[in-house]
Amino acid sequence: MYNFNQVNLILTQMSWKKFSRLFFLFIIIFLLTGSLTQPARAAELINPGFEEADGDSKALNWFDFGQGYKRVKNAQQGEWGIRLATAQANQFAGAWQRIDLNQNVQKPVFIGGWVRGNKINNSSGGYFGASLYAEIHLQDGSVAYWNSIGNFGSFGWRWIGFNTGTVATVNQPISHIFVVPVLGQATGVAIFDEIRVTEFDPNQAAVTIMIDDGEETALSVAKPVLDNFGFKASVAIIWEMIGEPGFMNLNEIKSLQSSDWEIVSHSLTHSDLTLISAKQARQEMANSQRKLQRQGLTVRNFALPYGAYNGEILATGAKFYSSLRAYEQGSNPQGAFPYDIKVRGILETTSIQELQSWMNEARDNHRWLVVVFHTLASEGDDAYHLDPAIFSQMIETVSQSGLPVITYQQGLERFAVNR
Ligand SMILES: [Zn+2]
Repeated sequence: MYNFNQVNLILTQMSWKKFSRLFFLFIIIFLLTGSLTQPARAAELINPGFEEADGDSKALNWFDFGQGYKRVKNAQQGEWGIRLATAQANQFAGAWQRIDLNQNVQKPVFIGGWVRGNKINNSSGGYFGASLYAEIHLQDGSVAYWNSIGNFGSFGWRWIGFNTGTVATVNQPISHIFVVPVLGQATGVAIFDEIRVTEFDPNQAAVTIMIDDGEETALSVAKPVLDNFGFKASVAIIWEMIGEPGFMNLNEIKSLQSSDWEIVSHSLTHSDLTLISAKQARQEMANSQRKLQRQGLTVRNFALPYGAYNGEILATGAKFYSSLRAYEQGSNPQGAFPYDIKVRGILETTSIQELQSWMNEARDNHRWLVVVFHTLASEGDDAYHLDPAIFSQMIETVSQSGLPVITYQQGLERFAVNR
C-alpha cells in the first residue's frame, strides 16, 4: 500500500503528459463501469454499424432477408458495412434485426441509416429500391409496414430514415419492430451502414408559422399581425420573384431577417424539381441558397416547390440544407427526420376550427406543427390564399393556444434528429 509521501513521489517523478494520460484512463474506466451499471435501453439496436462479425460473412445479430447480405469492408463509419445484391427485379435482399420496445404508451421511434448504391435499376417500377423497411408490430397485435424513400441509380453515401410517429397506421404503443435495410423490386447493389433506431420521450409541443413564395402580403398583412403577438415567422423565398410585382424586394426580405424572421429558400424559379434534370435541380437548390447568402441572408432550410421530391433530390439538397420541407400533411414527432417534415397547409377553405384541432393534436401528443400560408388576400386565382381577416383570427387562435411559436430552424433544433 502507498502512503501519501510515496504517492507524491510517484507524481513528481511522472511527467505531466504521463499523468494526464493516466487521468484520462481513469475517466474512461469510470465511464465504462458506470455504463455497465445502467439498465440496457429497450430500443438499443445491437451491432448497428456491422462492426462485430458472426462467422465469415455475417454481422452479429443481423439475419438474412430474402437473398440475404454479406458483411463487407465498405463503411460510412468504422470499418464494416453490409452489401445487398439482386440480379432480378422481383427479388429482395436484406438484413433484419428485431427490436423489442414493449411500449406502454405510444412513443415515436426514429429509424435511420446510411446507404450507397451501384446501378440500382427500378425496371419493375417498385418503390423500395435501396431503403430502410420496417415491420412495426403494435401492442394490439396489428402490424404497420413502412419504409424510407427508395433510392435508385449509382450514388454515394446518403442519410435516409423516417419516424414511426409520422406513420398513420402506427396508432398504438409499439411491441417490437423488425428493422430491414433492403434492396427490393430492383436490380443492383446497395451498401448499408450505421443503422439507427431511437425511441423518443415526447416532452414538448410548438407551432411554426411559415409563409411560402415571398409575396408582398407576408410583409404588408402578416408582419403587423404577428408583431402584435411578438411572433416570428419563416418565409420561403423564390429567388427570381424577388422584386417582381406582388413580391417582396431584397430590402424588405432583409428587414424581415433583421426582425428575427427566418429566410428559407424556395428555389430559383419554383420549378418542380422532379421534372427537370438532376443538374438543374441541384442549381435550383444550391444557387438559390448562395445568391440569398451573398445578400447577407442566413439560409439553412429549403421548401420544395410543389412539395415535389425523390431520393436523389433529398440527397442533393442534404448537401446544402439542414432540412428540405415538402407539403405532406401532418405534424412532427420528437425525433423527426429533417428531410421529412410534415406541414398543415392553409387554403382559402381552411377553418379556424381545423387549425384549432391541429393545435390541440400537437399539444396533446407533444408534437411540432408547421402551418404554411401563401397569399394573404381576400381574392386569389387558386385555393392558396386566405382572407386577411381570417388570418388575424387564426393568429389570435394560435396565441390563445399558449403553444410556443418558433421559427422553422428552431423547430428543427428542438424536434429533429441529427445526422
Ligand atoms: Zn411555392
